[in-house]
Amino acid sequence: MASALSERLSRIVKEMRGQARITESNVTDMMREVRMALLEADVALPVVRDFIAKVKEKALGQEVVGSLTPGQAMVGIVNRELAALMGAGVADINLAAQPPAVILMAGLQGAGKTTTTAKLAKHLIEKRKKKVLTVSGDVYRPAAIEQLKMVSAQAGAEWFPSTADQKPVDIARAAIDYARKHYFDVLLVDTAGRLAIDEALMREIKELHAALDPVETLFVVDAMQGQDAINTAKAFKEALPLTGIILTKTDGDSRGGAALSVRAITGAPIKFAGISEKIDGLEVFDAERHAGRILG
Ligand code: GDP
Repeated sequence: MASALSERLSRIVKEMRGQARITESNVTDMMREVRMALLEADVALPVVRDFIAKVKEKALGQEVVGSLTPGQAMVGIVNRELAALMGAGVADINLAAQPPAVILMAGLQGAGKTTTTAKLAKHLIEKRKKKVLTVSGDVYRPAAIEQLKMVSAQAGAEWFPSTADQKPVDIARAAIDYARKHYFDVLLVDTAGRLAIDEALMREIKELHAALDPVETLFVVDAMQGQDAINTAKAFKEALPLTGIILTKTDGDSRGGAALSVRAITGAPIKFAGISEKIDGLEVFDAERHAGRILG
């Protein structure tokens, strides 16, 4: 792996000894390094460009103060800006709705939707003391319905049965009905995913959204997805009013630049991060820590 950004910047900074201020050409040199670091972390190019423009403005004219080297100052600025960009508006799951509060899980197949649905159920049961029902609208993959059943049991959540011959909207309505009658606080709705974005899938999830009127619509995205995350995020943002993001597989070896892209594209806050395959592998997203990781 390439050397850490702070190291690379200090090389540039050595040439700046004796200067009182960071000049435009210093900033340009440093920004080249920042840009490289972000691209290596798989942040999407348009997002990198916007980010650089913003940081450049902040950095220009900064005084090269006291013992803090300009390189450290620059790393500080970049870190803060990254964290602010990813962390603004962070909040726990919103449950302010007439019960059951419905949470719709959206994302590509393999992103970790089903696993995350159960992790979230466990979080809501244990930390928020809620009575939670789960249901799967994935009528294309009976195995996915079974998978949700299994992981819901591990989470201590009740699972509402569905079958492949039903329409997702009908399943969702029946689940809401059941949840109301049995005084559930929360209904988590897992949905079908595809390996790539497709129109039928988007139409279906829009219909589901309209029928469910969820209080949270969460976009589940794989931190390892890298550059592709931007197209996925765009497509889901266009289809749905996303209220939050869950970044999965942050325990993988990617630098997690997808977080920055997805946050920038959707404007929705990253609420949680998946940190393992296990049912308790979910954490509140820590923007500062993630910023450090992206910069390496
Ligand atoms: P879905 O198709 O979106 O429902 O995805 P699944 O929930 O079936 O997850 C796909 C794979 O990713 C499974 O093997 C999960 O165990 C794994 N997975 C999900 N979240 C995480 C995570 O945060 N960390 C790791 N290491 N694996 C995860």
